Amino acid sequence: MANPSILILAGDGIGPEVMEEVKKIIRWLDARRGIAFDLGEDLVGGCSYDAHGTPLTDAAMARAQEADAVLLGAVGGPKYDALDFSVKPERGLLRLRKEMDLFANLRPAQCFDALADFSSLKRDVVAGLDIMIVRELTSGVYFGEPRGIFTEGNERVGINTQRYTEGEIARVARSAFDLARKRGNRVCSMEKANVMESGVLWRQVVQEVHDREYPDVELSHMYADAGAMQLTRWPKQFDVIVTDNLFGDLLSDLAAMLTGSLGMLPSASLGAPMANGRPKALYEPVHGSAPDIAGQGKANPIACILSFAMALRYSFDLGDEASRIERAVEKVLADGLRTADLMGPEGGTPVSTGAMGDAIIAAMDASL
Ligand code: NAD
Repeated sequence: MANPSILILAGDGIGPEVMEEVKKIIRWLDARRGIAFDLGEDLVGGCSYDAHGTPLTDAAMARAQEADAVLLGAVGGPKYDALDFSVKPERGLLRLRKEMDLFANLRPAQCFDALADFSSLKRDVVAGLDIMIVRELTSGVYFGEPRGIFTEGNERVGINTQRYTEGEIARVARSAFDLARKRGNRVCSMEKANVMESGVLWRQVVQEVHDREYPDVELSHMYADAGAMQLTRWPKQFDVIVTDNLFGDLLSDLAAMLTGSLGMLPSASLGAPMANGRPKALYEPVHGSAPDIAGQGKANPIACILSFAMALRYSFDLGDEASRIERAVEKVLADGLRTADLMGPEGGTPVSTGAMGDAIIAAMDASL
């Protein structure tokens, strides 16, 4: 049987630097665990524009559609700021998300014990936190029609429309329930059913999908504003949170920042299952191309490495190997290893991108 395939799109700025550390882990899995992937690489973002005059070629798009998972580094940089909107590096990423129809955006908020003091919340509120926000990504108020700024009488009105079909709600609910089964088996659905009809439908459909297909998963409902309060009061009460595009935009940023640095935050975007049963999937760190530190070996590779761990767990059913990576990250942080972005006020000597990757691999080795 053919090996599962991964397409790497390292992109711009620190993207290739952090992806280099992921490639080390992929090689380690092959050498030490007998887990092999068919790796492909292509261009996205500014580097693709430089080579081909477009941020994503049709050929690269086709390869992404065929891959079992896509790993993306980051795109963009000041060099491309003046480009026309249609060929900006970010358009490459948007095209991938749209054409792969990645409707479920997964943002974990995981707090490693060694970094609990980085949070703006108290240590005991965040230490050991491990929650997952599933945000609907391709519908809702950012896409609904009518939209625009119109003139009514002698004043302007701005209009956006929150619109969800049953099918759109059901498919993202299924993503959340599937994830919960691989985690703590609990889902909290958030909307504003008290004031929005789209919220009433959201709540009904999530409940129906649950009762029909996932009765083994514990389901609760919460108004999204109360959810924001609960996330800052006692975030550890949650396992998986599923919510719409707008509320998810806010709640996932809130939850991510409970845990500290941008260099630590992974993400995944999932679509419908392919013929082989795996969901279409794009894994990427939350951070951008960090032009201010690019090329200096200062970037923290952990967000990208944890994104790859998500790929192992959610695309390849290799949850044990994903946990091994996460435990290795935990171990090196506990040992005091820090890239520059993780240096606290007490100071110390930061390690390079490559040294952080090597230390994580050494910890994985030690776990065998
Ligand atoms: P950014 O995330 O690139 O950087 C913000 C700050 O965080 C910078 O000071 C940077 O040095 C630091 N930082 C980010 N990732 C880090 C890491 N792994 N290790 C250490 N420090 C890290 O955001 P920005 O500066 O607003 O944007 C820079 C470029 O990236 C822009 O062109 C923007 O459009 C693009 N961008 C791309 C994506 C993406 O590819 N998904 C996301 C956000 C921004």
